[in-house]
Amino acid sequence: MNFCPHCGERVNSDQDVCLNCGAMLKNRSTSTTHTHVKDVGGFGWGFLGFMIPIAGIIIYALMKDTQPLNASAALKGALISIGISVLFYIIIAATGFGLYY
Ligand SMILES: [Zn+2]
Repeated sequence: MNFCPHCGERVNSDQDVCLNCGAMLKNRSTSTTHTHVKDVGGFGWGFLGFMIPIAGIIIYALMKDTQPLNASAALKGALISIGISVLFYIIIAATGFGLYY
């Protein structure tokens, strides 16, 4: 048994609206419904960051508070991808192919 925060009338816990005053009772709980994504730093996030480094960095910026492990996995993938790209260009430059650019 709960009580209406607005008028104090008794309400059932499964009620959405207070029958006495009409106040919304589950306003807060429904608005903060989380889609439970596993925050385990999964391979998929790293792979996404690796394929699209910009997306990986953006994902890190957006999710570092809510899903720190997934966010860091995406960032790691992005950094590895950027590192390989940089290495690739250094090798090209070092072997002389860079002159064609
Ligand atoms: Zn009420």
